[in-house]
Amino acid sequence: MQDSFGRPITYLRVSVTDRCDFRCFYCMAEDMTFLPRKDLLSIEELDTVCSAFIERGVSKIRLTGGEPLVRRGIMELIARLSRHKDTGRLDEITLTTNGSQLAKHAHEIKRLGVERINVSLDTLDADKFTEVTRLGKINQVLDGLKAAQDAGLRIKINTVALKGVNEDELSTLVAWCGKQGFDLTLIETMPLGDIGGDRTDQYLALDDVRQRLEQDWTLLASTHSTGGPSKYVEVQETGQKLGFITPLSDHFCDNCNRMRLTCTGTLYMCLGQDSAVDLRAAVRAGNPNQALDAAINEALTLKPKGHEFVIEPGNGGPALTRHMSVTGG
Ligand code: SAM
Ligand code: SF4
Repeated sequence: MQDSFGRPITYLRVSVTDRCDFRCFYCMAEDMTFLPRKDLLSIEELDTVCSAFIERGVSKIRLTGGEPLVRRGIMELIARLSRHKDTGRLDEITLTTNGSQLAKHAHEIKRLGVERINVSLDTLDADKFTEVTRLGKINQVLDGLKAAQDAGLRIKINTVALKGVNEDELSTLVAWCGKQGFDLTLIETMPLGDIGGDRTDQYLALDDVRQRLEQDWTLLASTHSTGGPSKYVEVQETGQKLGFITPLSDHFCDNCNRMRLTCTGTLYMCLGQDSAVDLRAAVRAGNPNQALDAAINEALTLKPKGHEFVIEPGNGGPALTRHMSVTGG
């Protein structure tokens, strides 16, 4: 599959629910209105849609959310998708999670064929963690990480760099990840959804962060690439990879290889644009395979060249009305 700019599309990210047991302040408003349950694709329908993409050449699927591990039936979805790994059509199923349910699910996730996961963790300070997530307790996540390590899952930590919140802790996080054997990716805040405040207050340019980290660490150029937005270096002292996702200070769209499916079957071709194709109608059509094929063809022609995020003083509101939890980061 190629889009109209000749970019191969090999990666599907699936937000299996927009609900979450946390309310991270940069991601959600405190009193969120979630998508109506009646509009959700069933596990069978999610499987059908993902399988249509795999049939067309998608080789990597990431399950995300909201919090994917609070979606009822998530283990069944992973089990179903793993049949495509067995046939060799799918290289990888991965997960982005807040870690709150990992203590319960890590071993089963590994048994079902997931090799590596991303776990979001913005601070190691217990009080700050509860402040950032509003509802979370850090020990839930640390216990989850321990279970994931015991299960043999490879782990990458995702940290949103937040001005005045964790900017003084990022070097400590590099050290901690090094000790645990985790890779780390730092992310700039993106202007998605109304969070009840101005995002310019939180935005921290990762170029500046990198310069500060270079005072403590030797950052070596790395050839590692996932075909995604992250630029990697290797931290010489720990041997772990450190990624920077910089949607605002540096566009990364030229090599974009992905599309994003929401839990209600809307397919977004870009995290930072509104154009979308409705796959729910397609999966519920008389001949779903044919309808999905046609809808995917339409999506390929509509995939935009790039996003248009900006965050600048006086322009700190959302660039798009949908929250990150709808398209899954
Ligand atoms: N709940 C899971 C989690 O937190 O990992 C998966 C979904 S979450 C939306 C995926 C990633 O997006 C997380 O690493 C989170 O920190 C990040 N994220 C959420 N809102 C963001 C925003 N406005 N800007 C940048 N990253 C954001
Ligand atoms: Fe939930 Fe993840 Fe958003 Fe935090 S970042 S509120 S854990 S979806």
